[in-house]
Amino acid sequence: MLEAFVGSPLAKPSGRILAIEETVCGTVDDDLPDVLARVDMVHADRDCLHVVDFKTSRSRWNEAKAAEAAEQLVLYRNLLGGMARSLGKPVRLGFGVLTKAKNPVAQYLPVPDQAGHVERLLGTIRQLWAAITAGNFYPNPSPMNCSTCGYKSNCPAFSQG
Ligand code: SF4
Repeated sequence: MLEAFVGSPLAKPSGRILAIEETVCGTVDDDLPDVLARVDMVHADRDCLHVVDFKTSRSRWNEAKAAEAAEQLVLYRNLLGGMARSLGKPVRLGFGVLTKAKNPVAQYLPVPDQAGHVERLLGTIRQLWAAITAGNFYPNPSPMNCSTCGYKSNCPAFSQG
């Protein structure tokens, strides 16, 4: 996987790298609490501010999969709006995907602007916030999440008796 990554354009982003694994906090709507995000990579070239999120995957992604996952990057764009404005550049979003199969492949998938992206994102965050403020918490066990969960000792899904 590392060889595939190092040999791909993902390892040689255009322009200047401005941030790697950067924690960003900001407001997306006055009715909602601040949102905290960890942005994988931001780089700026002559034309754009590029915001990239890296994923590992069993199989290749396609445009439909990138569009399905786009809300995360749309959130990052909102939070990085001030940086883009100060540089006077538009933001370009994209996923860097590394496949974990026998012959790993590194892909870059741009996320095109779509009508309603921001509204859908705000709708998702509003639903989450409404569930949190209503105390609507329930366990949702999965091998991937539970193995590293810091709340496991208090979790009803793992309580004894
Ligand atoms: S152990 Fe953690 S991740 Fe797993 S169901 Fe409970 S709260 Fe969720």
